[in-house]
Amino acid sequence: MSSSSALLLLDDVTKVYHMGDVEVHALRGVSLSVEEGEFVAIMGASGSGKSTLMNIIGCLDRPTRGRYLLAGEEVSTLDRNALAEKRNRTLGFVFQNFNLLSRTSAIENVELPLLYAGLHTRERHEHSRAALARVGLGDRMHHHPNQMSGGQQQRVAIARALVANPKVILADEPTGNLDSVTSVEVMAIFQELCDSGITVVLVTHEPDIARYAARVVVMRDGRIRSDSRQEPQRAVPAPAEATAGGEP
Ligand code: ADP
Ligand code: MG
Repeated sequence: MSSSSALLLLDDVTKVYHMGDVEVHALRGVSLSVEEGEFVAIMGASGSGKSTLMNIIGCLDRPTRGRYLLAGEEVSTLDRNALAEKRNRTLGFVFQNFNLLSRTSAIENVELPLLYAGLHTRERHEHSRAALARVGLGDRMHHHPNQMSGGQQQRVAIARALVANPKVILADEPTGNLDSVTSVEVMAIFQELCDSGITVVLVTHEPDIARYAARVVVMRDGRIRSDSRQEPQRAVPAPAEATAGGEP
């Protein structure tokens, strides 16, 4: 695999947190190269460094040592504003707890990342509508998250991650709060995004979820313990009536 074409390239990345006098070595030399269009699951026990790795990939935190190149550009050379701009242009985030504003409609939640992009209201609406349609929520744009099931809320969050047309979606335990039927629906959406050329990096501790990825990276004690490719299982959502209990 040539590093020049890598979308994400980490070279011997170390992360040390200081807690008073104690040093916590969250990452102990991680090298990882992800090409455009890959679907990578990151696994590993609690405390193995998965979230730290995702925060560095997501430019939310910087390595203590080592290099990180995002789309060919070394992140450490960018100032705060350039980094924020690069993050907004390149990355979309999905979290375990959805992180939606609960009393704000789905479409307004999805529009949030566009408020800083200098788009007109109409363009924001169009992009947000399209993103919600892409995750199967075109008919629920004006519902509020507190009127939606967990699976629907996570789909709103995925639409929000998609709306600015990112190259990469980073998802930390996106199915952690969902039942298994709903998890498959959400994984089917990630697979569709991946089929359309978006790179997906997803943290999970569930082997049942990791089998939908084409590559599995296992972390242990701040290091990559294994990195392997597999034929991903296709996520096939259950028929609609099976999920009807989750509909408001
Ligand atoms: P995981 O997501 O795999 O559970 P983390 O990346 O959250 O692992 O944590 C890796 C290690 O780094 C753990 O020992 C954790 O306690 C420590 N850690 C994570 N974030 C911080 C922080 N902000 N300050 C201090 N220690 C941290
Ligand atoms: Mg974590």
